[in-house]
Amino acid sequence: MDVTRAKCPKCGRWLAAGGVLTIAHLEIPVYTCDECLVTVDLFGQKHELPLTFCLDKEGRAVDPADPETPLEF
Ligand SMILES: [Zn+2]
Repeated sequence: MDVTRAKCPKCGRWLAAGGVLTIAHLEIPVYTCDECLVTVDLFGQKHELPLTFCLDKEGRAVDPADPETPLEF
């Protein structure tokens, strides 16, 4: 599987890996789509952040904070 780029689950744009996250000694590429903002609740305040995701072993986009749940839009 080519992990240097991934398709945004929301807008379908191809994105280059923006960094690497290390989870349980595995290096997982992280992708960020600047076109797609998601509203995140941080300490009771709403923030709009670029959509950030990783790919699971089946190539589905998942939330880095919750890798068990595929992202759906
Ligand atoms: Zn997008």
